[in-house]
Amino acid sequence: MRALSAPELLDVWERGNVQSPVHRALLLLSAACPEASADSLTKLNIGERDARLLTLREWTFGSQLIGIATCPDCRERLELTFNVADIQVTPESGPTRELTIDAYGYDVHFRLPNSLDMATIADHKDVDVAREELLESCLLSVHHDGEEIPSDHLPASLVEAIVDRMAEADPGADVQLALSCPSCRHQWHATFDIVLFFWSEINAWAYHRLHEVHTLALAYGWREADILAMSPWRRQFYLERVGG
Ligand SMILES: [Zn+2]
Repeated sequence: MRALSAPELLDVWERGNVQSPVHRALLLLSAACPEASADSLTKLNIGERDARLLTLREWTFGSQLIGIATCPDCRERLELTFNVADIQVTPESGPTRELTIDAYGYDVHFRLPNSLDMATIADHKDVDVAREELLESCLLSVHHDGEEIPSDHLPASLVEAIVDRMAEADPGADVQLALSCPSCRHQWHATFDIVLFFWSEINAWAYHRLHEVHTLALAYGWREADILAMSPWRRQFYLERVGG
């Protein structure tokens, strides 16, 4: 994986604008990982995918992350500042391709959800149906008392055990921030979604950068590619001269 240049990032932003978050994540990774096949990136489990996106975010905008959260109790808005290192999860072992559970007379082989699974269920309005479908696509085989059985209608306790095992094997797939409200001292957890966070930053960055291109192109008649290729200091100098 490598960092993206300004023109490459703008290109990803342009193509990802009308896409879903899952596709935006894959667009970013395929631009940054030209050595990897599209198929292998699609099949990264969510924690692996998000760890790469977090690294790419660090290379693009630095290690500090600034976000806004609203206290669910008193509605106070708080600004959060944290570092990539605070939320980066390093799995204990390497990538886990296949997991097993032997419980309640069932022997279940399954894998972790990946971007392809997430894309498939993205349009479901019903969360329960989406969860069911996601689980089913991750089941590789189900045996009960030694007999292979269809994977639907598993007991709820078994489903819960499978979901817990998935979360344990892929801790980076669900990053929770422990928050505390300075006004009312309420404490809660908020989900940190690197895809949404990084994309909103890219969006703001793209508008800002294109505005600069517009100002300089209008003043000097320079080409977009030449303006984007300038160092930030040189570009800033000209922007100050034209009052942009
Ligand atoms: Zn509060």
